[in-house]
Amino acid sequence: MNGPLSLSPTDGAVDEHVCSAKGCRATAVHAVVWNNPKLHTAGRRKVWLACEDHEKSLADFVALRGFLIEVVPVGALTDADG
Ligand SMILES: [Zn+2]
Repeated sequence: MNGPLSLSPTDGAVDEHVCSAKGCRATAVHAVVWNNPKLHTAGRRKVWLACEDHEKSLADFVALRGFLIEVVPVGALTDADG
């Protein structure tokens, strides 16, 4: 797809982060890190990406279930997260 948005010098190299909220296509700025002990091993870090608008609702969703580990900036994610 070519257009005015394809002028980035790092085109194709940047991993675009999109919000995980249903139907949302906004760029994610937060990462909600969580773990469900019934489904995941203790060291596993599941990540939901969230835009500014959805960070609270996504974090609250897992926090209510006791699954929330932390909320970090998207830039702070490591290869171990996912
Ligand atoms: Zn969103």
